[in-house]
Amino acid sequence: PKPANLDGVTTRTTCAYCGVGCGVLATTDSAGRVTVKGDPDHPANLGRLCSKGSALGETISLEGRLLQPQVDGVATDWDRAVATVAERFKATIAEHGPDSVAFYVSGQLLTEDYYVANKLMKGFIGSANIDTNSRLCMASSVAGHKRAFGADTVPGQYSDLEEADLVVLVGSNLAWCHPVLYQRLAAAKAARPGMKVVNVDPRRTATSDLADMHLALRPGSDVALFNGLLVQIAEQDAVNTDYVNSFVNGFDAALVEARMADISVTGLQLEELQAFYDLWVGTEKVVTIYSQGVNQSSAGADKVNAILNCHLATGRIGKPGMGPLSVTGQPNAMGGREVGGLANMLACHLDIENPAHRTAVHEFWDSPVIADKPGLKAVDMFNAVGEGKIKALWVMCTNPVVSMPEADKVKAAIKGCDFVVVSDMFADTDTAKLADIVLPATGWAEKDGTVTNSERCISRQKGFLPAPGEARHDWQIMCNVAKAMGWASAFDFHSPAEVFREYAAMSGISGRFGRDFDISGLADVSEAEYQSLKPTHWPITKTRTGGRYFADGSFFTGTGKANMLAVSYRPPQSIPTEDAPYIFNTGRVRDHWHTMTRTARSARLSQHLAEPYLEVHPEDALKLGLKPADLAEVSNAHGRSILRVLVTDRVAPGQVFAPMHWTGQTSSSGRIDTLVTANVDPVSGQPESKAATVAIAPYKAG
Ligand code: SF4
Repeated sequence: PKPANLDGVTTRTTCAYCGVGCGVLATTDSAGRVTVKGDPDHPANLGRLCSKGSALGETISLEGRLLQPQVDGVATDWDRAVATVAERFKATIAEHGPDSVAFYVSGQLLTEDYYVANKLMKGFIGSANIDTNSRLCMASSVAGHKRAFGADTVPGQYSDLEEADLVVLVGSNLAWCHPVLYQRLAAAKAARPGMKVVNVDPRRTATSDLADMHLALRPGSDVALFNGLLVQIAEQDAVNTDYVNSFVNGFDAALVEARMADISVTGLQLEELQAFYDLWVGTEKVVTIYSQGVNQSSAGADKVNAILNCHLATGRIGKPGMGPLSVTGQPNAMGGREVGGLANMLACHLDIENPAHRTAVHEFWDSPVIADKPGLKAVDMFNAVGEGKIKALWVMCTNPVVSMPEADKVKAAIKGCDFVVVSDMFADTDTAKLADIVLPATGWAEKDGTVTNSERCISRQKGFLPAPGEARHDWQIMCNVAKAMGWASAFDFHSPAEVFREYAAMSGISGRFGRDFDISGLADVSEAEYQSLKPTHWPITKTRTGGRYFADGSFFTGTGKANMLAVSYRPPQSIPTEDAPYIFNTGRVRDHWHTMTRTARSARLSQHLAEPYLEVHPEDALKLGLKPADLAEVSNAHGRSILRVLVTDRVAPGQVFAPMHWTGQTSSSGRIDTLVTANVDPVSGQPESKAATVAIAPYKAG
C-alpha cells in the first residue's frame, strides 16, 4: 500500500539485525520509499549505522510477501487457519501429552511475541518444548553467566569499550558481525593511540586489521589460552586478593586446574602467548568481548567461564572500562532470555528446576499448569521431530531447514512431521515450503514492541507501515490460537503495551527472589509512555535504573559470591580423519543476515559478496589441485555443498571457512549447514558450528 498519509513522517525505531541494537530513524515518503538514518540519541550507535542497517529501506518491498493464511498451499481466512492450528495442537496434546508438541522461535521476535509464546507453552500447554534459534547464537554465554554469576547477567555496557586500555576480541569478527560496535572501537582507538586491541581467532578477519596482536589459535583451544592467562595472573601477583577473598568462590580449584593446562594445544608460539599474557596482566582496564567463536563450540560454556575466571580473579568486572562482554548475534536474543524463550528457563531469569520459582510464575499467570522440567533444546527438539516424538511443530520467524546443523536431517524431520505450522513474512522460505499451515506475520517495518540488545538496553521497535494484506503480529497470532484452544482471558491482549505491562509486572518476581531481571518500574506505563519509551538499560525498578553489575561484589548465586569454575581444555568433537581431513569453520559476511530472506532483496547488499565461497589456504589449494575461483565439492557424512574457491592465507593450512547465509533457493550449492555436525555443548546445548570436518575435491559437473 502507498503510505500517502505518511509522507515525510519519521519514526524512531530499532534495526532488525544484529545484537548491537542500533536506533534507527525511518522516514517514509509519498512514493512509498523508506529512508533510514542512525538515531543520534540512541546510546548503542549514537547516529551510526552499518551497511545492513542503512539498507533496511531496500528490503521492505511487498514482493513475495505472504498476504493470507494458507492451509495445504491454498489461501484461506484467519478463522479457518486459527481453528485448524488450535484443533490439531489440542488433539495432539490430548492423545500424546503436552511434550508431543513444540515451538521453535527466533531472536528476531520482539519481546512481547516471545513473552506470549513462552506463556502459552509453559503455563497453558504445560510443556517447556519452546526453544529458539538463539540457542545457536548465545546459549553458551547464558550457561557461563549462570554458573559464574548465578544469573544470566551481562556486567558491563558498550561505553566500556571506549574507556578500556585493552580490548580483547575472542572468536568475534566484530567488523562484520557487529559493525557499529567495531566503528566505536576503531574510533576510540584512533582517538587514544595508547589503547591496544588483541584479536583471538583461528582465522584472520577484517577485525584483525584493527588489532595490535592477532592470535591465530587452534580451533577450540580457548580454554587452554585463558587457563594459561589465569596462571600468569597468579604468578605475576595480579590477583585482586581483597576482591577474591570477599566475593569469589572457587579460586584455588580453578587455579589448580589451570596450572594443568597445556598451552601448547593453542598452537601459538610461546613468545606471542607471553606477550598477550603480559599485556593483559599489566593493563588494569581490560574488556574481553566474545561471540560465536566462543559460544558455538562443544566446550562453549567452559570457554566462557575460562574468560570470566580471569576477570573475577582480578576484580576487573563491572567497572568503567573493565569486564567481559558477550555480544549476541540477534537483535533480541537478550529479550528472549528475559521472558524465558529458552527450553531450560522460566521468564525473568527464574529457574525451571526451582519449585519456588515455578510456583511464583504459576500463581502470577493463574495458569492451569506449569512446565516442571526443561524442554528439548534445538538439536534435541529436531531429533525428536525426526523420531516422531514431536508430532506438532510451530516454527515462528526462522528458517531451520537452512540454519540448523545437519540441515538435511532437519529438513527430512520437518517433512515427516505430522503437523507443521510456520508463521513468517514469506511462504517461500525453505522451511515454510514444508509447512501444512503458513500464517502471514508482520515484518520489521510493521512490527511494534520492544527489543533488548547485548548491553541490556530495552528499546522500542515501532511499526511505521500498515500490515500488508491480512498479516498479523506474532503475539496476536498466538493469542488467536490460545483463545481458540480455550484460554481466552489469559491471552486477551489488545496491544503490545498490554503484553509489556504484564511481563514488566512479572519481573518483580525476579527481584523478590534476588534475581537481576527486574523491570517492574515499568509495570504501570501508560499507552503514551510506552509509545515514547526511551532506550533504557535494565534493571528498571523504583530504586534503580541501569548501571553496571558486580563491581560491588554482589552476585546472584546462593552464597552471594561469584563462582570461578575449574575448567579444562576439550578439543572439538569432530576429529579430522582421512575421509574428512579439513576443519570446517562457518560464519557471516558483512552485508548479509542469516538465511538472506531479507538482505537478498537489496541489490546493493549483494554487491559485496554475490555468492557463497570457501576460503582455502594456498598450500591446501595446491595439494587439492584447486585454483582461485574454481568450484570445490565439500562433503562429509551429513551433506554436500559446491562452493567457489577463494585461495587465501587468512585461514591456516588444514582449515577452511564458508559463510552460512546462502540457501537452497538462492543457490543450489551454498547450504553449508548441511555440513555442520550437530555436536553440542553438554551444558548449554549449543551446537559446534565452527569445527566440523569435511573432505574437499575439485567439482566435476555431472
Ligand atoms: Fe543493525 Fe547491527 Fe548494523 Fe547496528 S550494527 S545497524 S544493529 S546490523
